[in-house]
Amino acid sequence: MKCTVIGMWGGFPEEDEPTSGYLIEKDGFHILLDTGSGVAAHVQNYVELNDLHHIVMSHYHYDHSVDLGAFLFGRMINMFMGRIDTELNIYGPDDQKIIDQVNDVKLSRFHPYDAGSQLNIGPFTIEFHRNNHPVETYAMRITDDEGKVLVYTADSSYMDSLVQFSEGADVLITECNSYEGEDAARLGHMNAEEAGLFSSRAGVKRTILTHLPHYGDVNELTESAEKAGAENVELAQVDQVIEI
Ligand SMILES: [Zn+2]
Ligand SMILES: [Zn+2]
Repeated sequence: MKCTVIGMWGGFPEEDEPTSGYLIEKDGFHILLDTGSGVAAHVQNYVELNDLHHIVMSHYHYDHSVDLGAFLFGRMINMFMGRIDTELNIYGPDDQKIIDQVNDVKLSRFHPYDAGSQLNIGPFTIEFHRNNHPVETYAMRITDDEGKVLVYTADSSYMDSLVQFSEGADVLITECNSYEGEDAARLGHMNAEEAGLFSSRAGVKRTILTHLPHYGDVNELTESAEKAGAENVELAQVDQVIEI
């Protein structure tokens, strides 16, 4: 499978650099993970809106969800123009406000998931882990039909159960919201040392740090994660293509 980083900032976008959004592709199937600020515009460098039929949301904080409305209206207006008659499927944690928001727009349908769910979309199987974060949030383990595994943590503080969930992944895209020594857990996040420790304990082959802070020297994040034991650590970059 291939994963393209559409956005990687935490909180708010920078110029032409969105917040969370990751496009997964294989055999002509596309799945978008999260719809952060700027993602609806930027993802069109890689897939036409009418070719994107599956969006999986980790949670509904703005930096992961605020562009959802753009995808819903895009599908509806393209339908009115006779360009598409296929539903846009939105998968996310159960939330009546979001369910109504999605299902009230023509040609979009909401599918709730929880920690026990397994989604099968084209060549992909997606499993979920309930994170520790101020709102209901899930990490995703995506396995393709060749057995390759990508784990995307979304937002969470360090958890042993998240280590187990991520075990042996070929690629881990982990949040890294702050610097070594900062109290990230208080806000339901990981600092660079915790992200590195988590990666090392899970035994993943390659680690991409994302959900990056807007202050400090982000290269220090990589150093801290490596010092904590993580291997092959990189910072996520917009337009980065990860072959898995
Ligand atoms: Zn969040
Ligand atoms: Zn976030």
